[in-house]
Amino acid sequence: AVPTVAVVGRPNVGKSTLVNRMCDAGTVNGAIVRDEPGVTRDRVYQRATWGGRDFEMIDTGGLLFDDEADALFLEEIREQASLALSESCAAILVVDGREGPTRVDEEIGAFLRKWPRDLPVVVAVNKCEQVLTEAEGAAEFWRLGLGEPIACSGVHGNGVAEVLDALLPAI
Ligand code: GDP
Ligand code: MG
Repeated sequence: AVPTVAVVGRPNVGKSTLVNRMCDAGTVNGAIVRDEPGVTRDRVYQRATWGGRDFEMIDTGGLLFDDEADALFLEEIREQASLALSESCAAILVVDGREGPTRVDEEIGAFLRKWPRDLPVVVAVNKCEQVLTEAEGAAEFWRLGLGEPIACSGVHGNGVAEVLDALLPAI
């Protein structure tokens, strides 16, 4: 089986845009949607190649915490992200460099740090199109405690190669 990388983060931070860009950057063999009964959010699987390695990325629907959704819905979404993470050898945590770190980013960071087995995480600070934004915005995400945050833009494509390079040791 090819290694799998789960892409997690709050809704709207640009996970799907980034996954599509990453799969463009390498090669895509089409998206496969796995939707199990009783699971509300699909996980979208896309094949990619980078640095001579084949792997699969799972684009999750987004991770919500606390007051952002009612308890039942929240549980289902967490279940979905947990399913993706449990079959992955690494994760990309996507955050929004324009907004800076939010409380929910920190909760997701803690959730990943507490993952019951070794799970390398690359923090992708998305929406960093401008050099100034990159320098200022990305550094703030050190506080997530998941290593060096990497500025990137799924829309413009800058930094995406660096995120993939950072993943390579884990896949
Ligand atoms: P997801 O919910 O995390 O999958 O986020 P999407 O990929 O659907 O993107 C959410 C919104 O952010 C869309 O309006 C995108 O066009 C926008 N977006 C995504 N990536 C970028 C980026 O790198 N820069 C900017 N400026 N906007 C982005
Ligand atoms: Mg999405």
